[in-house]
Amino acid sequence: MSFSIHGLAVSRGIAIGRAVLVASSRADVAHYFIEADQAEQEVQRIRLARDAVMEEISRVQRELPSDAPAELAALLDVHLMLLQDEQLSAGVKHWIVERHYNAEWAITTQYEVLARQFDEMQDPYLRERKADLEQVVERLLRGLKGAASPVQQTASRRAPQGELLGDSMDVPLVLVAHDLSPADMLQFKQSLFVGFATDVGGRTSHTAIVARSMDIPAVVGARSASALIEQDDWVIIDGDAGVLIVDPSPIILAEYGFKQRQAELERERLNRLRHTPALTLDGQKIELLANIEMPGDTAAAVQAGAVGVGLFRSEFLFMGRGGQLPDENEQYLAYRAAVEGMQGLPVTIRTVDIGADKPLDRSTRSSDDHLNPALGLRAIRWSLADPPMFLTQLRAILRAAAHGPIHLLVPMLAHAREIRQTLSLIDHARAQLDNKGQVHGLVKLGAMIEVPAAALHLGPFLQHFDFLSIGTNDLIQYTLAIDRADEAVAHLYDPLHPAVLRLLADTIAQCRAHGRPVSVCGEMAGDPAMTRLLLGLGLRSFSMHPAQLLLVKQQVLRADAGKLQAWARRVVESEDPVTALQAG
Ligand code: PEP
Ligand code: MG
Repeated sequence: MSFSIHGLAVSRGIAIGRAVLVASSRADVAHYFIEADQAEQEVQRIRLARDAVMEEISRVQRELPSDAPAELAALLDVHLMLLQDEQLSAGVKHWIVERHYNAEWAITTQYEVLARQFDEMQDPYLRERKADLEQVVERLLRGLKGAASPVQQTASRRAPQGELLGDSMDVPLVLVAHDLSPADMLQFKQSLFVGFATDVGGRTSHTAIVARSMDIPAVVGARSASALIEQDDWVIIDGDAGVLIVDPSPIILAEYGFKQRQAELERERLNRLRHTPALTLDGQKIELLANIEMPGDTAAAVQAGAVGVGLFRSEFLFMGRGGQLPDENEQYLAYRAAVEGMQGLPVTIRTVDIGADKPLDRSTRSSDDHLNPALGLRAIRWSLADPPMFLTQLRAILRAAAHGPIHLLVPMLAHAREIRQTLSLIDHARAQLDNKGQVHGLVKLGAMIEVPAAALHLGPFLQHFDFLSIGTNDLIQYTLAIDRADEAVAHLYDPLHPAVLRLLADTIAQCRAHGRPVSVCGEMAGDPAMTRLLLGLGLRSFSMHPAQLLLVKQQVLRADAGKLQAWARRVVESEDPVTALQAG
């Protein structure tokens, strides 16, 4: 029976595929297709892992002290029983043989199927056995790690979007999860999924941002999607409307297939703008920059015709590594790769912005420890609290600057004191490199304006920095006091709130009055519905995901920046900016 689920549209386009339910805790499990003739080998891998786990449990059982509680022996019995359970092994075999999933993926998929059956059981004792199953699966996954896959060497091949791989691999897959951390999401970059849906998350949560950077349809904040959708269900993800359609009828499928083709044509049309200079009708030159998460993203930036990177979110180099931070050399190589990737165009590297909805990894989720992580030790606060860590990053950035133009951008500053500390640490990092005789380059220094206090008191920023970059995602979050990652308050996340617009307009105006370059690097910069307004407010530099760039360029080419000025002022001063915007 077909039904739909509403959520928040975060990444445009239509994806149609079978659902793969991924438990948030298992998002780091490898997902790839094996070759059909490798299925037997992969099944054998699991058998060996299972035998090893059973042997280990039996040994523990044999060595149990005589006074050990009887429950413990019984528990181990249950684990042994589950390991031999027909439903588990037959199911896992099905995913490997029929769907060509790798062993780890097959196990976690079957776990999701069985876990749901346990959830539906009436008997509380049986229901609780789900926890045992989870432990057994955990043991199996660990066992598989020990037994390196001969398949893995050859089958790291991932299916790009929509690519037909023959057999069952031609079935496109969409990922459905309760929650995914930004680092997990990043793992799925270049993966086999053609769309994403999560139960939680706001429009500018970092998970949504990464989905958008992958340029595949995504819906977040779809509440109970992961409970309502079953493994293998056909799902349409409408990333434009923020809707999921489960088990669609043939008529609906045909309609969405048509929409998909239309979108494809539209993309082809837009692609023709790639080499067109971003000039407004009245000849204003507009700088369109790219936001990236990893050095490899520079390829997409260049491809989209970006004239530089306006925001490299360096924290993605730090996440999902079990708290083990990248050392100076690893960071230096990554920053250098980004610089080289941009082929002489400037790269703005933002110093690490860990915290809030960007924990280092799952085990150190800041929300577990702190009530208000978005207001806690995040971004520059985190860096200033750990000078050796910060100096390591600064040295790496300064060294990379010897290879090409780098701008260094500091997130979340609010106090003049923080500015002084940051600048003094940058000087210190330079002195350290000089002392060691290491080559480094000059960098332009920039600050993000993303805390209302900074926007309201720009003086110290104008005094100390070469350029400013407005982070509208956080500026909106902190001005309106709503958590950008919380779908429950997503309706209050309003880029057009008069207070937000005033902060934005004033910041741009003051920067212009002082001749200080200013850009916007929040999601607002990549929203074509906002381009005219931002141009009218005097903005000449926009940084966004490469996938948004041509859409924004299209708006720029159609705009007369001079004429938009008076209208933009009216929108900012209006009590009802939405209506005023539409009237423009
Ligand atoms: C912002 O806050 O607008 C921004 C660009 O930074 P981030 O989204 O990484 O917090
Ligand atoms: Mg921010």
